[in-house]
Amino acid sequence: AARPREIKLVIIGDSGVGKSSLVLRFVTQSFKPFSESTIGASFMSKVIELDGQTVKVQIWDTAGQEKYKSLAPMYYRGAAAAIVVYDITRRESFGTLQRWVSELQEKGPRDLRIMVAGNKKDLEGDRQVAAEEAEAYAESIGARYMETSAKDDMAVQDLFLSLCQQVPLV
Ligand code: GDP
Ligand code: MG
Repeated sequence: AARPREIKLVIIGDSGVGKSSLVLRFVTQSFKPFSESTIGASFMSKVIELDGQTVKVQIWDTAGQEKYKSLAPMYYRGAAAAIVVYDITRRESFGTLQRWVSELQEKGPRDLRIMVAGNKKDLEGDRQVAAEEAEAYAESIGARYMETSAKDDMAVQDLFLSLCQQVPLV
């Protein structure tokens, strides 16, 4: 048994939480402070090593469709992993995240591995959601929780890699 050679990973969450910035940070190790919602490709990939095996991670980022509170099912069809993101300084985005998770559970692939990410950890002083609350929520859906900063490069590699690590062997 080995990991699939390609992993489709989707990143979902409210507009402005930092999805595209996390993808950009993971793939190119960079950050653009004034990114537009159109920034970056809606599709990027990165080759990683997992336990000595080469795996291509195909990352699907929304190009602004999240504003309409609905995603086409083709977006997450065939996905093995999903990062659901909220902004720790915006409580509303934590509520939206829970709606996205419900949609994924209803319509997404059955084996989907989910990681909950609280982004913008560098803005600790403006925090509106306690880490414990997000952690308890993640646990309730059988997911893990991590806090990240795409800006300051905190835990971004770890976020993507530890999620891919959870993808079952085939
Ligand atoms: P998306 O709509 O979810 O794709 O969000 P973007 O990646 O476009 O980011 C929205 C805004 O938040 C941009 O101005 C980013 O520069 C900013 N941003 C993204 N990640 C962080 C972060 O970790 N910390 C801070 N302070 N700002 C961030
Ligand atoms: Mg974006």
